[in-house]
Amino acid sequence: MSIAENIARVLELIELAAGRAGRDADSIALMAVSKTVSVERIREAFGAGVRLFGENRVQEFAAKAHAFRQCQGAQVHMVGHLQSNKAARAAELFDGVDSIDSLRLAQKLDAAASALGKKLPVLIEINIGGEAAKSGIPPDSGELPRLLDAAQELLSIEIRGLMTVPPFDADREKSRPYFRAIRRLFDKMAGRHPACMQALSMGMSHDFEVAIEEGSTCVRVGTAIFGERRRDQ
Ligand SMILES: *Cc1c(COP(=O)(O)O)cnc(C)c1O
Repeated sequence: MSIAENIARVLELIELAAGRAGRDADSIALMAVSKTVSVERIREAFGAGVRLFGENRVQEFAAKAHAFRQCQGAQVHMVGHLQSNKAARAAELFDGVDSIDSLRLAQKLDAAASALGKKLPVLIEINIGGEAAKSGIPPDSGELPRLLDAAQELLSIEIRGLMTVPPFDADREKSRPYFRAIRRLFDKMAGRHPACMQALSMGMSHDFEVAIEEGSTCVRVGTAIFGERRRDQ
């Protein structure tokens, strides 16, 4: 299957899942996660109509950024863990950071975006399964409302919602309770900060249809578009 065929198939599945949930498929963005993917194949995905990409390493993206710049209208978001010492570089390179997990990082990104005269959209990553190996804010710690309150003063970042990666299980139905839990958290936070809760990024190659049924507004799909990556990535 070519990348264009894979994309067509993913879009069809998005449409079907949206239909099952009584949702408009236009309310769900497809992000092509292009970590480890060559610039040639990224151009192919762009040629097939993809306009939103995700990368998970600042350095890797820096090396490929020239190719994205030739793709007029393409947006690239950081979806991986971001160390605060790389915040300034990330603010410069990316169109959005979908994985902020501390007030300190939010402040660093804000300062960097302000210096660049840029307004940077961000999502807050939630560690919905409470896994030690994953980054993200614990869902029930009180840290999320504190971050949302404190971030009101950070004028160069714009908090747009939440992002999560649930514990992996080959059975996609195992993701559903986690998607449901973050949706509840999202709705709760929207009560106090409606402008900050517009986007809910969840669902990957193996479980994006379930994520859509549970309210995802952005699915992040790598393997189902570009094929298998090396195991360690
Ligand atoms: C790699 C990655 C994805 C895509 O994963 P696939 O299973 O290949 O679709 C999505 N989100 C994040 C944060 C990732 O790191």
